[in-house]
Amino acid sequence: MLRIPCPYCGPRDHAEFDYGGDATVVWPALDDTTEAWVEALYFRDDPKGPHRELWRHARGCRLWLIVERDTVTHEISAAHPAHPGMADEVTAQSQAETPSA
Ligand SMILES: [Zn+2]
Repeated sequence: MLRIPCPYCGPRDHAEFDYGGDATVVWPALDDTTEAWVEALYFRDDPKGPHRELWRHARGCRLWLIVERDTVTHEISAAHPAHPGMADEVTAQSQAETPSA
């Protein structure tokens, strides 16, 4: 079982999360070609090693996360909010909670 370190809730079992797919996909513009959309929607790499994935803490804070996971060892090296505004919020909260020296 994977333990995913949610920035809000702390480490949780992966059963609390929904897998959202490859976080490295670059989505085409709305008016891009059909071929570009087919490529983005249906074709994925099958990486061996470190990879960025989307996970949603569905049975927790419901935050979408980008999780950096090694596909061979399943080791998770990082997890942070997928939305840049939420990443800023988490950083601000953690700095506010850190006691000053
Ligand atoms: Zn959470």
